[in-house]
Amino acid sequence: MDKKAWVIRKKHRRQHPWVFSNEIKETAGNPKIGDTVLVYDRDQFIGSGIYNPQSLITIRLYSNKEQELDKSFFVEIISKALSMRKTILPNEEDFRLVYGESDDVPGLVLDKYHNSFAMQTYSVGTDLRQNIIIEAMKDVMPVECVFQKNDFRLRGAEGLPRIESLLYGDPKPVIISENNIKYTVDIKEGQKTGFYYDQRITRAKVRALSKDKNILDVFCYTGGFALNAGIGGAKSVLGVDASEAAVNLSRQNAILNNLDKLCKFTVADAFVLLREFVKEHRKYDIIILDPPPFFKSPKEKSRGMRGYKDINLQAMKLLTVGGILVSSTCSHYLFWQDLLDVLTQSAQDVNRSFKIIDRTTQGPDHPVLLSMPESEYLRCFFLEVY
Ligand code: SAH
Repeated sequence: MDKKAWVIRKKHRRQHPWVFSNEIKETAGNPKIGDTVLVYDRDQFIGSGIYNPQSLITIRLYSNKEQELDKSFFVEIISKALSMRKTILPNEEDFRLVYGESDDVPGLVLDKYHNSFAMQTYSVGTDLRQNIIIEAMKDVMPVECVFQKNDFRLRGAEGLPRIESLLYGDPKPVIISENNIKYTVDIKEGQKTGFYYDQRITRAKVRALSKDKNILDVFCYTGGFALNAGIGGAKSVLGVDASEAAVNLSRQNAILNNLDKLCKFTVADAFVLLREFVKEHRKYDIIILDPPPFFKSPKEKSRGMRGYKDINLQAMKLLTVGGILVSSTCSHYLFWQDLLDVLTQSAQDVNRSFKIIDRTTQGPDHPVLLSMPESEYLRCFFLEVY
């Protein structure tokens, strides 16, 4: 590698895998977009990175050694990621296989659905190397299909187009399993990458609490929480989602798991439906709120927080005494304390008392880098009415 970059980093950012444009002091060897560069902090070598002068994140570091971004690199990364998941999730075959920087590869997400894969490439370095990545995947495990799910806003910041397309093989809906529950995943038509593996742990905890309970799963998507509650012995289960396609998939998944008599689903706007349920004086023992991110940048935070407050407040009114609210957020910029503030204010407004009985975050197939707080995004509190 003859391309080099010299950067000056603030002490608290030394281990962070992103180098912003204003940290770069000098480059040598005329690096071009997508090239790999050797990066030095003043005189000290820090590692190899991908160069993208079109992005504010101008260098994304992927190794603390001199390392090409070639097939052997991806074979090593994917093998390591697979072995970590198999160790930490020994009973699972389907999971997020690669989670970007947390797996030492910036801008690459791979979700494994049996032998089919959803791929997201949101750094120019990985986007240019999609074919090499697929070749590397085939060296590590059976691969029947790879579909790129690259229609999201972040790609714009990298100067990349938004696109979804088949990269390899035959894209059939696949049946996967999580916590011993089966789901049909349609990678091509599904939201994001097709399935939200990040709630694996939270779903299992809901299952453990559900015996003989009346459950409301709001923002149910393909029914993950509802089906866990059903398997856990719930008395009744209602899942709600604004997307008709998602509700249809939830119903299909209920049939797949012989839960269709118990688990019912309805298409509705949660903001409207929760209010209607309050008017009807309905009561539930467990309410799960797993909304989409209500904001994506710090600028939108106060508006987004109002959305969280609204749904939490309505849900709190619907709980029985002893009932449990499972309240999640996947907004990167809604931190633990923010969610706690939303919940505290909502509880005050409805004049009910709660205790925190549990809290969960993204599952272990979405590791969090200590040096990169942005790699944590999922936060969830279990609150019990007392
Ligand atoms: N709980 C799900 C994941 C939820 S993703 C799981 O376990 O897999 C968020 C979901 O919220 C999406 O399915 C989306 O269709 C739905 N949604 C977005 N806005 C909504 C609204 N206003 N009312 C109801 N559902 C909504």
